[in-house]
Amino acid sequence: MSEKRRAVAIDGPSGAGKSTLARAVAKALGFRYVDTGAIYRTVGCAAKRRGLDPADANAIEALLGELKVEMTYDAEGLQHMLLNGEDVTGEIRLPEISLYASRVSAIPAVRAFLLEMQREMARRYDVIMDGRDIGTVVLPQADVKIFLTASPEDRARRRYLELQERGTPQDYDQLLAETRERDYNDSHRSSSPLRPAADAVLLDTTGNTFAQSCALLRQTIEERLDV
Ligand code: C5P
Repeated sequence: MSEKRRAVAIDGPSGAGKSTLARAVAKALGFRYVDTGAIYRTVGCAAKRRGLDPADANAIEALLGELKVEMTYDAEGLQHMLLNGEDVTGEIRLPEISLYASRVSAIPAVRAFLLEMQREMARRYDVIMDGRDIGTVVLPQADVKIFLTASPEDRARRRYLELQERGTPQDYDQLLAETRERDYNDSHRSSSPLRPAADAVLLDTTGNTFAQSCALLRQTIEERLDV
């Protein structure tokens, strides 16, 4: 009897808490957490290092031929990104990489380049994979599809508190404007726009504590999977 891998696809706008929640629930269920934003960030990082305009589709497409992007996991189960063999896990989290990632991710050749490595993870492991197009494009056959969101105000507020805690405070109104702008860009690009899959469960975490959202996500997954 062949063992079928199970897959949970979680999509949603940035700042809804997808990665923190998905990582926690994956750990509890013994699934592998796959952060697909990290692979777009890795391509964005390569573009920045080369001094390329991340919106220049021709330049970025030419760059792809020289890139080896790999995803590995350490002993604690944490995902690492390798760019031509170099660990760039820390570097891709720099705030300026977000913009590069967002720009390169709108280029169809970039999405095509990264598609197979995402699907390969789902063939090899039971996964909880998060991103923008996992339920719609990457894993349309996923066992559970979730669209996780929260109000723009709530997401901007979380980001505000996070940055304050890190000692790099930013103006709330500016963060709210940026959140709205990113939502617009993610959902209006022609290649894989952010939208819920027709069969996705909609989870809105507005006003929830982390523990409440975590319990809600776990319950939603467990009800639909035999785990
Ligand atoms: O989730 P994160 O902020 O790390 O994603 C970085 C960028 O990659 C975002 O701008 C997002 O639009 C893009 N992305 C994407 N498709 C995914 C995951 C992320 O286009 N599956």
